[in-house]
Amino acid sequence: MSRLFEMAQQREERHRLESLARQAEKAKGHPGGSFSHCNDCGEEIPPLRREKVPGCTRCVPCQTKAEKRHP
Ligand SMILES: [Zn+2]
Repeated sequence: MSRLFEMAQQREERHRLESLARQAEKAKGHPGGSFSHCNDCGEEIPPLRREKVPGCTRCVPCQTKAEKRHP
């Protein structure tokens, strides 16, 4: 039983480190403010969109959803 618990803890820790690494990646790749990955779903934002919309932090579907949320 405690072995299972340990494994769960390790998985949790790995997940935490991975998301930290992803955040660091975002920050260093785009000092200008554009994110390489969507802030909402984590999908990669197409480079063309990042060029057209400087500072965008979401992919198109999430941006659309966000705009609907806040008209
Ligand atoms: Zn998204």
